[in-house]
Amino acid sequence: MRSDKHKRLVIPGPVEVRPEILDAQAQWMIGHRTTAFADLFARLQDKLKQAFLTQYRVFISGSSGTGLWEGASRNCIRDGHKALHLVGGAFSERWVDVSRLNGKEVDVIEVPWGQAHTPDMVADALKRERYDAVCITHNETSTGVTNDVKAIADVIRPYEDTLILVDTVSGIMGAEFRTDAWGVDLALTSSQKAFALPPGLALASVSDRVLERAKTVTNRGYYFDFVDWEASAKKNNTTSTPPVALMFALEAQLDDILAETLQGRWARHMQMRDMTHAWAISREFGLFAQEGYRSPTVTTVDNQARGIDVDEMAKFMGGKGWSMDKGYGKIKGKTFRIAHMGDMQPSEVEGILAGLDEFIGA
Ligand SMILES: *Cc1c(COP(=O)(O)O)cnc(C)c1O
Repeated sequence: MRSDKHKRLVIPGPVEVRPEILDAQAQWMIGHRTTAFADLFARLQDKLKQAFLTQYRVFISGSSGTGLWEGASRNCIRDGHKALHLVGGAFSERWVDVSRLNGKEVDVIEVPWGQAHTPDMVADALKRERYDAVCITHNETSTGVTNDVKAIADVIRPYEDTLILVDTVSGIMGAEFRTDAWGVDLALTSSQKAFALPPGLALASVSDRVLERAKTVTNRGYYFDFVDWEASAKKNNTTSTPPVALMFALEAQLDDILAETLQGRWARHMQMRDMTHAWAISREFGLFAQEGYRSPTVTTVDNQARGIDVDEMAKFMGGKGWSMDKGYGKIKGKTFRIAHMGDMQPSEVEGILAGLDEFIGA
């Protein structure tokens, strides 16, 4: 049924999905108002809480991660109050737009692409203004920067009215992420990044504090109303028709993730990151992300010194069976990204780097 002409995905989303996980989607459909579905939902809650390291709940959304940006902003920011957005790349820029387009008032701390946000920057802003929420992008997929969410959350937590909202779309399940231990109120992700599932499903851990806040927000909208979602979740159900096939795949993938262990997964990603860094540096490329904040899941290679033709590189690698990235947005070509994310193994990273060596003639 599947074509044998497949190019394995080395792009930072969607990532390669293992055949077993693709197959898990192909079970018979079940109605979502059945006990079979409620059982599936309950099992998923238990496994998702282990994967997100949270005692609270993990909402399953029939949307991509973008939908949960909207949900987070709408449920957590009251009229007449503000949110603080930390911006330093294409995705964090977009989340601000989502807040603004939903009528929310925002302040922004912007750093140049490739740089990380520091706890001091956030502490200074919090001294000047009260915020309903701070919106942090854990792993900025466009630049390959991983922010130190733990350290930033530490300076926010003393402000009791300020919720800590984190986009970890390309982080969690690859990079270390400890939701409750770090005091994160909401951590949102998509299925097609480090979770290594097909696209179409998004997940968010949500603390009790978020639900308390949501009850006081008058215009939460309809599709992403967390108060409604919680009422359904208590009955092991969803407000509207959920992506059942993807939920079958999610359960299979969670079983494998928990068997590998989170620690094992984090270590494997660090190993693949270090291999990629060593290759880039020895081949006289730069690394675009600031030292100390380089992502375990995606490396943004700085191509400015060497200036390889990224279109030719992608074509060459395509011929070898890999689908490559050519850089994102305004840094396309100046950089290209190597995703080492999801279920990729170090042995495959070796193959990819050997292919790149052949292209550059190293
Ligand atoms: C991919 C990505 C998004 C957008 O997620 P979708 O599932 O495409 O809506 C948001 N934030 C980050 C950091 C991403 O990498």
